[in-house]
Amino acid sequence: MAYAAAPHPAATPVALRIPVRALLPWAVFVGVFGMVLLYFVGVEQGALTVFSGNTVHEWVHDGRHLLGFPCH
Ligand SMILES: [Zn+2]
Repeated sequence: MAYAAAPHPAATPVALRIPVRALLPWAVFVGVFGMVLLYFVGVEQGALTVFSGNTVHEWVHDGRHLLGFPCH
């Protein structure tokens, strides 16, 4: 049983280079967002509370233990 060889499509060039100027705002955004997230998971409790009550703490409690932050 013979199979006909299918023609291979020509390789199309793909631009893989992303200029730093395009990446910089996203890098800053991800960095700031990560720091805010880390703050709420790690230290948002007691005297450093931004939102009163234990709501934020209860939402991030398991993440706090997972990341090894002191809790209770
Ligand atoms: Zn805990």
